[in-house]
Amino acid sequence: MVGGAVRNALLGEPVHEVDIATTLAPEATMRSAQAAGLKAHPTGIDHGTVTIVSGNNAFEVTTLRHDVETHGRHATVAFTDDWQADAARRDFTMNALYASLDGEIFDPLGGIGDALCRNVRFAGDAETRIREDFLRVLRFFRFHAQYGDGALDEAGLAACTRLKDGLNKLSRERVGQEMKKLLLAKGAAQAAGLMNGAGVSQVLFGRDLDDAVLERLAAIDAANALSPDYPLRLAGCLAMSADELGESLRLSNAEVRAIAGLRDAMPPSPALRDNERKVVLYQTGAETFTRAARLAWAHSNAPAGDAAWLGLMKLLEEWPLPALPVTGSDLIAAGLEPGPELGATLRRLEDWWVAGGFVATREELLAKVSA
Ligand code: ATP
Ligand code: MG
Repeated sequence: MVGGAVRNALLGEPVHEVDIATTLAPEATMRSAQAAGLKAHPTGIDHGTVTIVSGNNAFEVTTLRHDVETHGRHATVAFTDDWQADAARRDFTMNALYASLDGEIFDPLGGIGDALCRNVRFAGDAETRIREDFLRVLRFFRFHAQYGDGALDEAGLAACTRLKDGLNKLSRERVGQEMKKLLLAKGAAQAAGLMNGAGVSQVLFGRDLDDAVLERLAAIDAANALSPDYPLRLAGCLAMSADELGESLRLSNAEVRAIAGLRDAMPPSPALRDNERKVVLYQTGAETFTRAARLAWAHSNAPAGDAAWLGLMKLLEEWPLPALPVTGSDLIAAGLEPGPELGATLRRLEDWWVAGGFVATREELLAKVSA
C-alpha cells in the first residue's frame, strides 16, 4: 500500500481508498490479477496504473516509476524497481509512505515523523517540485487543511508564495478537485487565511477567500454534527456568482444550482415569526433553506450552538413541507381552460394558501376558483 491509506492509518484517520505500488510491470500486474480471478482494467497503463476490482472495491495498482520529465499533469515516466525513486516523485513526505502486507512500513523520506507532527513537507526541494507541477502549490495548502497542524513548513510556504503565478497554467478541473477537498477539510479556514497571505487566492480567484466565514461555518458544523457542505462553503467564502464559481472550478450542475439557490434565497432568521419562517421555508425549498440558514447563522454573531438558530433549522423536522392541495388537473376538472390563465390562477391560489398559513383545504381553494 502507498500514499493516503498508509498516512491515514498512521494518523488514525479514516481510509477511503487503498492505492498499491508494485515492482511488476503493468502487463504483469494485469496478468497476475486475472490469474487470481480478479478483474483488471488498464485505466492508466501508459503511466503504470491498472485498476483491480475485488468485490465492490477498486484498487489502483501502479508500477514503481520515476518521472523522467514532467509537464504538469502529464509526465514521461520510466518504470523502475527502485522504491526510493518512486517515493521521490511523490509530492509530500507524508504521501510517500509504503506498507507491506504484514504491516511493515517503508519510509524513505522521513514521512512518518512529518505525518505525526502534522507537518506537510515537500519531497525534495520545494521549488523544483513545484516547477514540475504547479498543482502542488494548491495541494500544499489542501494537505495542510486536512492533516496539518500549526504553522506551515517555512521553505514550502516561501516556494509556494514565489511560484504562485504558475497556478494560472493549471486546468480549472484540477484546481476544482483540490479546492473541494480543501474547503471541506477541518482546517479549511486556517488554510484559506494562509492562501490569502501567500497571494494564492488572488491568483486563483482575483480576490481573497473569506476565512472568517469559513471559520464560523466550521464551528457551526462541529457544534451541531452537521456535515460540511461544499456549495455552502464556496458560496460563503467567495463573493462570486454561481455561474462564475461554476466556470472557475468546473462545478457540477447540481453544485451551481445549489449556489444559485443560495444567492437568491431570502435569508432565514430566528427573528422571523412562526408563520414567516414557514413562508420562507416553503418558498426557498428544504435544501436551500437549510443551507441559507447555515450561511445566515455564520454571518450572525450568534454562538455556534445557539438554540434559536438550531430551532430555525429544526423547522423542517417539525413541519414537513406541505404541498398545495390543488393541481392544474383539478382546475381543468372544475372547468378551466388549459393555458397561461390556468397557471396564473394556480399561482394566485397558492399565494392565498401561503398567506393564510397553509391551512386552506382543497375544497376551500376550489370554491375560490368558482367564486
Ligand atoms: P486523498 O485521501 O485525498 O485521496 P491521497 O494521498 O490519496 O489523499 P491523491 O490525490 O489521491 O491523494 O494522490 C495519491 C498519491 O499520489 C499521493 O499520496 C501522492 O503520493 C501522489 N500524487 C498525487 N498527485 C500528485 C502530484 N500532483 N504530484 C506528486 N505526487 C502526487
Ligand atoms: Mg487518493
